[in-house]
Amino acid sequence: MIVGIDVGATTISGGLVSEQGEVRVAVRAPTRGLGPGRAVQTLVGVVTDLTGQARRRGLALDGIGLGLPGLVDVDRGMMVSPHPLVGEFTGVPLADQVRAATGLPVFVDNDANALVLGEWLFGVGRGARSLALLAVGTGVGGGLVLDGTLVRGPSGSAGEFGHVPIDFEGPRCPCGGHGCLNLYTAGDSLERMARASLERGEESRLLALAGGDPGAISSRLVFEAAFLGDAVARGLVDRACRALGAGLGVILNSLDPEVVVITGGVAASLARLEAAIAGHTRRYALDPARVETRLRIVPADKSGTMRGGAALALYELRRRPAAPAGTPGRPAGQAPAVPRPARG
Ligand SMILES: [Zn+2]
Repeated sequence: MIVGIDVGATTISGGLVSEQGEVRVAVRAPTRGLGPGRAVQTLVGVVTDLTGQARRRGLALDGIGLGLPGLVDVDRGMMVSPHPLVGEFTGVPLADQVRAATGLPVFVDNDANALVLGEWLFGVGRGARSLALLAVGTGVGGGLVLDGTLVRGPSGSAGEFGHVPIDFEGPRCPCGGHGCLNLYTAGDSLERMARASLERGEESRLLALAGGDPGAISSRLVFEAAFLGDAVARGLVDRACRALGAGLGVILNSLDPEVVVITGGVAASLARLEAAIAGHTRRYALDPARVETRLRIVPADKSGTMRGGAALALYELRRRPAAPAGTPGRPAGQAPAVPRPARG
């Protein structure tokens, strides 16, 4: 049994996850529920709640995996990029602190890297040798498994597909680049562009659908309005689909993965547009890559993110079974039984 944790800006979710990816027990807590500056304590509280529940149920734990909402230094076990909402996690040795609290091997990585491992070990990417994942939510994250290995890169930023430039003369992105995929498809971007259209006085039902409050315009509402035929919303959604087509073209032409997964908070809305996204992808991707790659749109749920954390721990325990030698909780030389993805 593994503890899988997803650290989000609003909620920390954790679960006791079996080696088959089944979530047996789930715990959630508001990230800032204990007040400002205490999110790390909330995280440790969620973890110790789960280890306590495992102990009471007689479940043996092999390790803990944490998905974090920013750039992660895996070796130092900490988030290194500043996060506008949960900056208090940045620079804190989270893996060391959780290990000290539990005595178990602890692994941390970016949440999208955890998600791609979750889809690879337990989800729609099972059995694939290569898998790319786009997590379209507030922002756009990404993860990449190539030839059976999670690709991190020397700086940890490999697979950041949300920041591939799809318009080299496009506007500036919060990452510092220009014309990133993120700017056209992220939930935040859609909401911001919708409000900007209203401020320019463009005719739209969005304001009425949001109860007259521009601040209440969500990306889900933008998609709803588009399906109702609203011209402003349709323009934004169509551009998001074209941008995804271009982004998928970059992924397919450069990496030729067996499977591409689109998930995240916006995926439920995108699932209805799969044919349109595939159509735009045809404009940008080389024929052989497009024919060989399977596109799967997987609406996000909290079990998926917990399974991602668990998959991270399973992946690392399998990769470096010697690393936790001497670690409390596991005698040296006894690696856990870790399922390898079946070869298709
Ligand atoms: Zn960017």
